[in-house]
Amino acid sequence: MTESSSDELVTMLRKAVSRTSMLAEGNDPKLDAVVRQIRQAITKGANADDIQTLLKNAEPLLIKSDEEQQKRARLLRSTLEELVDLLDKQEGKRVPHTEKKKFESQIRLHWQTSSQWPLLIKSFLTLAENTLNSAEPDQPRSSFLSRLFQREGDAPRKNDHEVMTQISHSFIGLMNNLSLPSLYDDDVSDLKNALKRNESLQDLPELLDEVIHLIMVAIGKTQENLTKYLSQLNQQLASINESITSSAISHKSLSKSREGFNSQLETQVNDTFHAVKHSTDLDSLKSLIDDRLTVISNTMTDYKTQMIEQEKQASQSISSLKNKVVRMEKDTVSLRSMLQEKLAQAMTDSLTDLPNRTAYQDAILPLCKIMQKTSKPMCLAVCDIDHFKSVNDTWGHLAGDKVLRLVPKQIRSVLKKEDLMFRYGGEEFVIAFPNMTLEQAMARTELVRLAVAKTPFNVQGEPVSISISIGLAQLEPEESPEALFERADKQLYLAKEAGRNRVMGTK
Ligand code: GH3
Ligand code: MG
Ligand code: MG
Repeated sequence: MTESSSDELVTMLRKAVSRTSMLAEGNDPKLDAVVRQIRQAITKGANADDIQTLLKNAEPLLIKSDEEQQKRARLLRSTLEELVDLLDKQEGKRVPHTEKKKFESQIRLHWQTSSQWPLLIKSFLTLAENTLNSAEPDQPRSSFLSRLFQREGDAPRKNDHEVMTQISHSFIGLMNNLSLPSLYDDDVSDLKNALKRNESLQDLPELLDEVIHLIMVAIGKTQENLTKYLSQLNQQLASINESITSSAISHKSLSKSREGFNSQLETQVNDTFHAVKHSTDLDSLKSLIDDRLTVISNTMTDYKTQMIEQEKQASQSISSLKNKVVRMEKDTVSLRSMLQEKLAQAMTDSLTDLPNRTAYQDAILPLCKIMQKTSKPMCLAVCDIDHFKSVNDTWGHLAGDKVLRLVPKQIRSVLKKEDLMFRYGGEEFVIAFPNMTLEQAMARTELVRLAVAKTPFNVQGEPVSISISIGLAQLEPEESPEALFERADKQLYLAKEAGRNRVMGTK
């Protein structure tokens, strides 16, 4: 079920509870107070649990109200039975046997159904009339009620007062237990006083008509409410049913527990729908609705518990997923630094620790471009150790390696921070001089050449003289790094040709 359809359901249930509460009103002041609380809670949009608690509070009061209704019904039955006995006791009168049996069976059938009470009282009056007619057919007919206990023109009989007291007592008891709107309070007390005061059986028929009228008012009001309520409830349940069904159809992919919940709720609502449709009695309807609401509320609580459990599981898997991501991030960081290390290794010459030829090729193009773009001078020097082969040949390869490590150190000692040196290959080194003209670079490389030449390299305990030749070229506008290198290399060749241990340069 979607969020909105479950909201809709809660709204519907609230309305149903609200309407149920309206029916309960007017029977008991305590119950009325609880009913008011329920309605206020519903208006304020209190949650289902709070409403459930209020309903629980109302339960004993509803039971009490039902018990009182039962009491009233029992009282009416005994009143009618006493009245039949009273008819039997009338001197010279005979209660028609078949009609009496029929009336007694009517009492047995309908005494519990308040809507039938006025009919029962009317049947009693008919029976009383027939009793009088059967016994005294020769008497002139007047109002059947006026002839109930007294023949017209007769003086009041001895037991009339006693009979009247009994009848009045019975009907006052009935009135006391009749639930009527407060609007009728005055009528009820007037009628009760009239019944108490009345000593003449002659006025009784009119008073009984009043009693019947008030019972009709009490029952009529309830029946009207009940009819309205039943049709509204039917509509609401149909609407809930529809929203649940359509929600179930449009969410086929929902989890099993959700589908289970939907069908459970659907069944419950369907059951209620049919039960309400066939219910005609207010009391059974009240307890039916209470039961159904409890079942539906329990189902919703179960569902909530399931959802909480699922949420818990979901949050657990989310946190484990988070941990995995954190681990992955850590791995990525270490992988990245490893890669950077590898890259640095790939760019560095392991013997001299200088940037290698790859590093040179990476660096030289952007360097040339930026110098050309900013119209700044730049020179490239290619240095080569003279007769290095003979070092290897004389002192061995390891000694050669040692010389290869020491020479760049000597070169570096005279270079500036911004001068960039690479081991280009074998015993060749390349130096880039950014922001330097050929003259400046000639001077700097001369220092380089001197630094190497004057150093006595210690090879196997013996001082060995090493020299280098340097070819220099200044970068031209638009010139490529390869062309620049070629020109510098050509100068190196010229330096070698010219006798080595020297610097040769070109613009
Ligand atoms: P020139 O003055 O003409 O440059 O003569 P040269 O002997 O230096 O030149 P050549 O190119 O003939 O010899 C270079 C030698 O450098 C050959 C090679 O064995 C040696 N060499 C190159 N790389 C290494 C290295 O990493 N270690 C050692 N020990 N020798 C190397
Ligand atoms: Mg060489
Ligand atoms: Mg050489």
